[in-house]
Amino acid sequence: MTSMTRRNFFATLGAAGALALAGCNGSGEPAQTTGDQTTDQTTDEASYTLVKEGVLTNVAELGFAPFEYIDEDGNTVGFDVDLSNALAEKLGLTCEWLPNQAFDTLVPTIQQGGKADISIAGMTISDERLEQVDFSDPYLNSNQGIVAAAGSDLNSESLNAEGMQVACQTGTTGDEWISENLPNATKVPLADVTAALMGISTGLYNAMVIDLPVAQNMIAESFSDLEVVEEIPTGEQYGIAVSKDNPGLLAAINDALAAIEEDGTMDEIKQKWFGTTEI
Ligand code: GLN
Repeated sequence: MTSMTRRNFFATLGAAGALALAGCNGSGEPAQTTGDQTTDQTTDEASYTLVKEGVLTNVAELGFAPFEYIDEDGNTVGFDVDLSNALAEKLGLTCEWLPNQAFDTLVPTIQQGGKADISIAGMTISDERLEQVDFSDPYLNSNQGIVAAAGSDLNSESLNAEGMQVACQTGTTGDEWISENLPNATKVPLADVTAALMGISTGLYNAMVIDLPVAQNMIAESFSDLEVVEEIPTGEQYGIAVSKDNPGLLAAINDALAAIEEDGTMDEIKQKWFGTTEI
């Protein structure tokens, strides 16, 4: 997959945005956005379909603070939500989020098509997932962390023992890491991160393996009795999943991503959610 050159970016986005907005005005045509052939050589890449006209429809697991979660007022908020809004704005679209879905259903949902255009879900780009969906350029670096009761002397060595219950979110890179690195422990895959952390608090599980930024955020916000006992430098990168049948959308997302990196929007969003741009 080649993405559009920077030179074509504004022309293409302009055309895409204008037509997508035209769709909003009730043209009644299918949600297909097409660049102008006579002026833009990247027409094929600039052409994309949307599940809903004028809308960038997202699907994610919405219990992954600070990336995507439901706040006290019932709103879907987080780093990925702000990122998604910024991308949509560059594309002349608005943003909608489907109701919460289990993490391990996200890649299949994008692969099948018809429900959501993209999944921005703190999702790590991996070779296995790349067989099913395309990913945007990386937008954030991440690692794993082992969470256990504060003051416990647990670590990746002591947890790799019979009888140790180590939770993870089903289908995540943490899930895979446990399989590969803690073969002697009992892995407990769960749909919900909060349930897993609660289980450590109550003594049901010994530990959880989860993305480090989420571990740090959830401990700071709600689980002062837990701590990150070990950081695991997996060197993961988050990307936005897009259907392989929608290469034009992938190209447009990559160009919008480059634009928000360049104009300072990405730094603003990082600052807002992490208090630093160094993440
Ligand atoms: N980054 C991890 C993965 O992609 C976890 C993502 C998540 O739980 N939302 O598997």
